[in-house]
Amino acid sequence: MNWSRRSFLKVAGISLLGVGAKPVLDAVAGIEPSKITTAAGALQGKRWAMVIDLKKFKTEEDYKRCIDACHQAHNVPDFGNPKDEIKWIWKEPFRDVFPGQENKFIGGGAHENPVLVLCNHCDNPPCVRVCPTKATFKREEDGIVMMDYHRCIGCRFCVAGCPYGARSMNFRDPRSSLKEINPDFPTRTKGVVEKCNFCVERLVKGLQPACVEASGGGLIFGDLKNPESEVRKVLEARFAIRRRPDLGTLPQVYYIV
Ligand code: SF4
Ligand code: SF4
Repeated sequence: MNWSRRSFLKVAGISLLGVGAKPVLDAVAGIEPSKITTAAGALQGKRWAMVIDLKKFKTEEDYKRCIDACHQAHNVPDFGNPKDEIKWIWKEPFRDVFPGQENKFIGGGAHENPVLVLCNHCDNPPCVRVCPTKATFKREEDGIVMMDYHRCIGCRFCVAGCPYGARSMNFRDPRSSLKEINPDFPTRTKGVVEKCNFCVERLVKGLQPACVEASGGGLIFGDLKNPESEVRKVLEARFAIRRRPDLGTLPQVYYIV
């Protein structure tokens, strides 16, 4: 899909729903979709991907600074209980992230330490296929799997469709649990699903994703279609695995083990 303003408005169904243009555009962080990759100074990429170097994550602080950077930047609420948890990036045990991929010869504490996980921005995303309203969609120009919060009807088909648990449903009003609000990113409402957006609102400003910037080198982000990009060079030089390759979803988050 070509994300001209016309096609975006058509998909968003603004006229049918009677929704004002600004809030809908705010759904992608206040940035008109057609400008996300073409704005002056924006990072240019044809297939964004992330590489996570497991050996760089050793202490609680290594994980926390990435998680905090993301959740603060995107107004992700902390309800303080797992039942209502909203998460864009979080950690899980290696055996749960990579079932069947344990290997006793992997060194450096990779098995023992938790693994940072987020939406994989899959090349073949089941969440997109099952969404009845096109509230979630994959951008053809760079592969990012996006959410339009204003089109989400809270059916949670995408939550069930994602095999990685990357989507969170707001069962409660998220605004009530935000200690501080970042005015540069939209807050969400009860009944809406959310997830990592590969920081499109930062890419358009020429910035790396917030978690990458905070990671101190543990996370690498770039364009897989560019042979000179760091992600390409790292993936050519080091052995990497992906989550549940047997599912055919083609995750674009790679883990160096
Ligand atoms: S990780 Fe889940 S939410 Fe993200 S693109 Fe893949 S299937 Fe969709
Ligand atoms: S890429 Fe951006 S939205 Fe995704 S986990 Fe990192 S900081 Fe959060």
